[in-house]
Amino acid sequence: MTHGPGTNGLILEEPLLWEKGKPGRMAYSMPPSDVPEETVDEELLGEGPDFPDLGELDVVRHYTRLSQWNFGIDTGMYPLGSCTMKYNPKINEKMAATPGLASAHPLLEPEFSQGILKLHYELQEYLARITGMDAVSLQPSAGAQGELTAMLMFAAYFRKKNEKRTKILIPDTAHGTNPASAALCGFTSIPLASGEKGILDPAAVKELMDDETVGIMVTNPNTLGLFEEHIREITDIVHERGGLVYGDGANMNAIMGIVDIKRCGIDAVHLNLHKTFSTPHGGGGPGSGPICVTAELAPYLPVPRVAASDNGYILETESEDSIGRVHGFFGNVSVLIRAYSYILSMGPANLKKASQLAVLNGAYVKARLLDTFALAYDRPCMHECVFSDARQQPFKVTTLDMAKRLIDHGYHPPTIYFPLVVSGAIMVEPTETECKDDLDTFIEVCKTIAQEATKEGERLREAPSITKVRRLDETQAARKPCLTG
Ligand SMILES: *Cc1c(COP(=O)(O)O)cnc(C)c1O
Repeated sequence: MTHGPGTNGLILEEPLLWEKGKPGRMAYSMPPSDVPEETVDEELLGEGPDFPDLGELDVVRHYTRLSQWNFGIDTGMYPLGSCTMKYNPKINEKMAATPGLASAHPLLEPEFSQGILKLHYELQEYLARITGMDAVSLQPSAGAQGELTAMLMFAAYFRKKNEKRTKILIPDTAHGTNPASAALCGFTSIPLASGEKGILDPAAVKELMDDETVGIMVTNPNTLGLFEEHIREITDIVHERGGLVYGDGANMNAIMGIVDIKRCGIDAVHLNLHKTFSTPHGGGGPGSGPICVTAELAPYLPVPRVAASDNGYILETESEDSIGRVHGFFGNVSVLIRAYSYILSMGPANLKKASQLAVLNGAYVKARLLDTFALAYDRPCMHECVFSDARQQPFKVTTLDMAKRLIDHGYHPPTIYFPLVVSGAIMVEPTETECKDDLDTFIEVCKTIAQEATKEGERLREAPSITKVRRLDETQAARKPCLTG
């Protein structure tokens, strides 16, 4: 029997290029050669790569179809907690592609690169103003690398003071990258349990903070979507014992223009430009995790740094206490351009409004799903809310089943089973870019799924059922990935 191209409407099947190719097909035609033919020693050529022969249309359709299997924020809502998958306005893409910026060569002398250096300088200034901090490095190319950079600076700071400190406090509501970054610097993570309310208890910090402890890494708002209300008290405790405070600012989308991070007592904070400041991300694409620090830590920042002088913008390459470079050249510049363009196109008032709307949307989803899913901590949330599957478990339906069922309804699943402090966590971050109508549709779908759980659990346990690929054995998929289709 001959199969048409699809088995499910216009969800097209796609063979491998090797299965599609036919010897002799090609994607170009050349005019007849007008120079004498020469023979080449076959042995020298060897066998060559095993590439299929394909026509131009074969190749175009293949890759276009594969691109249609992708899901991204431009396709639909992507309520991934802890990752701010918001819409990134296209104007910022356009700016990043501006020929003069996109082709600026990093090895050009500063006198020929004044435009891009100005952009770096002003972005440093804007990020300093947004966080309230004194100095900025744009070099780190991810949030995790920003954390590592700051940990290296903390280590250099204590080396300079001749203090030996090797432990660091990490709350159970921290992002997984925090302990990893600390470990790379040789620090031992000391787990710090969050209190009953899902936030840190200053007394617990006081008990663990001693003269051998570097300090603490705090994510605020934390990964439960809750604001650490005692942050100033906690940072005072750490400073009293001579320690330093690291702020994980990946959740800046909730507090732009609202919280002054320096006044919270934070010594260094990273921002995720690809989350908060408009760069499409996911799948390991380029990111940027600038760090913003207090004047006291500024001498330890990576070099080179862009500075303003009477003769224009210059590169400061020498600094006695600097930890050195953490990136070739200046960081992921195209991400920096998008952030610069985003900040300028929004302006201070709209950056603040974006955070207010992000929090409003988080609170709205939380309020409307209160009767649907169990809430982990019933407190005012910030930009994201964390539910659990406690109400569905009696029907033998789990968080994973419901997340998979959301795919059938056209949604990327939320973050699940994280943070670890909540059993069966479902973490939803709607972001400010979703309108109320779209939030309402998402909420209705969640309610439908919860309803299904009570009566048609089997259906959920088999979800997703209308996708190209059904439920995978996730352990096998991670351990033994099949990369050829
Ligand atoms: C995303 C995230 C990070 C890590 O950032 P990457 O750019 O993915 O390395 C760190 N902390 C928190 C709270 C995050 O959400």
